[in-house]
Amino acid sequence: MTWHLHFLGTGAAHAVELGSSSAVLERSGKPMLLIDCGPDTLDRYYAAYGELPRNIYITHTHMDHVGGLERLFTRVWFDEALRGKTRVFAHAALVPWLQTRVADYPGVLAEGGVNYWEAFRLVPCSRGFWLDGWWFDVFATRHHRPGTSFGVALPGSFVFTGDTRPIPEVLAQYEGGQEWIAHDCGLVGNPSHTGIDDIEREYEEGLRARLVLYHYGSKADGEALAARGYRIARAGERVALAAPLPPGANAG
Ligand SMILES: [Zn+2]
Repeated sequence: MTWHLHFLGTGAAHAVELGSSSAVLERSGKPMLLIDCGPDTLDRYYAAYGELPRNIYITHTHMDHVGGLERLFTRVWFDEALRGKTRVFAHAALVPWLQTRVADYPGVLAEGGVNYWEAFRLVPCSRGFWLDGWWFDVFATRHHRPGTSFGVALPGSFVFTGDTRPIPEVLAQYEGGQEWIAHDCGLVGNPSHTGIDDIEREYEEGLRARLVLYHYGSKADGEALAARGYRIARAGERVALAAPLPPGANAG
């Protein structure tokens, strides 16, 4: 069994040419979990796999992370094989935001007769969730209001921060591990996002060596981060992962 994290897009919200930040966990070359679904994500996903995602994790409800969910409703609802089966995993605290920002638009179908969530299997979670026998950790990040943004990790394989300021208190849990840590990072930080100066102040060297930076502002910014000695994710790139740890006593 092989494991990869396939970056569909690596850009900040305004960096259209890099794609909305989004990644797919692949197991033995097959998509297992899509992380975030921005306006361009479904096209990129379909181009890579020729099918729609079956399992989606949402980090938070900024539109560059959920803007594709309206169109996904239509695709899934009119496909008998997928209707009501596509899982959407999200922290329970995000459910009201998903409802107001995505699901509550009047007349999800013009002809009426259906509610948004009937197309999906919404799986609210808090500490984490199970998928195909594997346990995924879910953790709070620092992005706008507290309790509105959550990263995800498959222990042993990867950590994906989603949009965030530095979170050393969270990443300490993975200290000494094998995980690649996909981390929000631009050249310059701001109140919502991490900058390279933040990375160098907040994380020690061993952890910095395991970072894969994404959510940067432009191709040139990405190359500037790489020139400083960091691994960056490029759109379309697959990062090979270590095998996940068997779900342990502290999971579930
Ligand atoms: Zn955001």
